[in-house]
Amino acid sequence: MRVLIDHRLGGVVGDPRPRHPEKSHRPDNPIQRKPGWIRVKAPSHPVYHETRALLHAHQLHTVCEEAACPNIGECWSVRHATMMIMGDTCTRACSFCNVRTGQPGPLDADEPARVAAAVARLGLRHVVITSVDRDDLDDGGAAHFAAVIACLRAAAPATTIEVLTPDFLRKGEAWRVVARARPDVFNHNLETTPRLYPAIRPGARYYQSLRLLDRVKGENPAIFTKSGLMLGLGESRAEVSQVMDDLRIAGVDFLTLGQYLQPTVKHAAVERFVPPEEFAEYAALARARGFALVAASPLTRSSYHADADFAALVAARAAQSAA
Ligand code: SF4
Repeated sequence: MRVLIDHRLGGVVGDPRPRHPEKSHRPDNPIQRKPGWIRVKAPSHPVYHETRALLHAHQLHTVCEEAACPNIGECWSVRHATMMIMGDTCTRACSFCNVRTGQPGPLDADEPARVAAAVARLGLRHVVITSVDRDDLDDGGAAHFAAVIACLRAAAPATTIEVLTPDFLRKGEAWRVVARARPDVFNHNLETTPRLYPAIRPGARYYQSLRLLDRVKGENPAIFTKSGLMLGLGESRAEVSQVMDDLRIAGVDFLTLGQYLQPTVKHAAVERFVPPEEFAEYAALARARGFALVAASPLTRSSYHADADFAALVAARAAQSAA
């Protein structure tokens, strides 16, 4: 069965809950027609359906579905799904994001075991675990992340683990609980350039996000750190360049750059579609700055091809050590 997304409201067809109540008063931003280089195939592969059935049987949420990711057909056809823990409701209201906003329910203590069981059944080499923002919790959900990592290590010891975390803004040292659980990759997306934060990521602070990445690297340099930006929101090339410098100063290993796509008419408008050649130029700029790995294309998302990218990161580090 296919998930039918209502592209006006961003919700799943048949689910009556309002998905973005805080955005309902905003004027509509018409959704621009996508250029030819952003076309994706509708999900149809039998493995896509198996993946979906398994995730739903384990009562798990994925960012692939909740964020209406364009790559879902490709990723789920190779069993690559990004699990979204701590519920389907986020306490922030970013203007780019399709994840439901509101008051989340209590944490589900069985979720770490279910995530681990699903990953073991899927037989993944590498898994990406992300979450909604949980500003309502004292630790922002850090202990829950650590519990998921511990369960994964026990149930799927050969699987490498990547976490894509919230910023833990105003949660003190909570981030350290996640870092000390030793994920293989610690990802936190800056999402956009600092000038655009008030419009695009109003609940976040650029320097908090940057400092989080810097602190994780300082805590354990063996953990790969990773961050990403969406392009096409009105950022200038000079601003992107500055963000790359900031990330390198924070010791970030891996940069992802992808095109922002507008989920609904109530979300931030696409300012422009960045052509593939420009992504290639940004990738060259980033490599010149010393990132161990760069993924940059219109359909790049932070978890897209994350398993192959992890192998490339390990190889890049080995090559650096040998040099
Ligand atoms: S790119 Fe990431 S979020 Fe999108 S479908 Fe693939 S795994 Fe899911």
